[in-house]
Amino acid sequence: MKIAMLARNPNLYSHQRLKEAAEARGHDFDIINTLRCYMNIASRRPEIYYNGEKLPKYDAVIPRIGASVTFYGLAVLRQFEMMGVYPLNETVAIGRSRDKLRSLQLLAREGIGLPVTTFAHDPKQTEEVLKLAGRAPLVIKLLEGTQGIGVVLADTERSAKSVIEAFRGAGVNILVQEFIKEAGGSDIRALVVGGRVVAAMRRSGAPGEFRSNLHRGGSASIAKLTPEERVTATRAAKTMGLNVCGVDMLRSNHGPVVMEVNSSPGLEGVEKATGIDIAGKIIEHLERHAKLGATRTKGK
Ligand code: ADP
Ligand code: GLU
Repeated sequence: MKIAMLARNPNLYSHQRLKEAAEARGHDFDIINTLRCYMNIASRRPEIYYNGEKLPKYDAVIPRIGASVTFYGLAVLRQFEMMGVYPLNETVAIGRSRDKLRSLQLLAREGIGLPVTTFAHDPKQTEEVLKLAGRAPLVIKLLEGTQGIGVVLADTERSAKSVIEAFRGAGVNILVQEFIKEAGGSDIRALVVGGRVVAAMRRSGAPGEFRSNLHRGGSASIAKLTPEERVTATRAAKTMGLNVCGVDMLRSNHGPVVMEVNSSPGLEGVEKATGIDIAGKIIEHLERHAKLGATRTKGK
């Protein structure tokens, strides 16, 4: 196969591993800087140009589009789809997952366990939102946060109110969630490839920290999932329409609850914690599914 990976930094662990895994299986692998692609979208025959040349026909494309370049990145990926190239994850599914509220709404509709989550735009509704979310402690999150930045634990309703007002004053969107205390500062990341959980890790926060992000000093170890957690992760992936994703869950006393579904999961933490060759499994998924012209959405 001829595989293209859309990425900005070829040296990241995940990107290197995908390249290695593809080449070890005898595939051609090109890393393409998403932002350097340009195209004539008005042409009947979709093409993509790169460094002054037309890109060749690829069998598959692996999008590793950073959150900050989602808009342009998805346009480039859509152009690949228009050309009939099989995307590891489709633009529509990635777009869905990048919108936290839309994702939670879709997951809720499928009856997938979620923390009680409330959201409002108007600051006048602060009291009402707090009432809906339940009693303190509450977690208040920036809608556009990553790596645990902008995730705040408020111990009392009074502090929750001031945190909400501070965020509102800064003009950012937030959501308010019940605090899953029994998760004990740990979460579960399940890696789903082609509708199956291929690896799972448990991330635990540094002492005294309720956020388990590795970027916040958390540590990771291999996790054994319950059947319910497995089903929750695969259903979440299916609901989002993602072939490959990382499903973040908390172990609550009412079963697993999904916090987030990530369409470009990092491989380093989970491969190192579990010893599983996830990059290899991703390439194998492409070997099974990447047929020219077989993409389901073709950018629709
Ligand atoms: P980010 O997307 O920035 O990583 P998350 O929503 O995943 O933000 O939150 C970061 C961490 O905070 C999670 O990994 C989890 O450990 C903890 N956390 C988030 N929401 C809750 C919650 N509702 N209850 C308990 N812990 C939470
Ligand atoms: N193909 C539709 C679109 O691009 C589906 C959107 C969706 O429900 O996510 O708008």
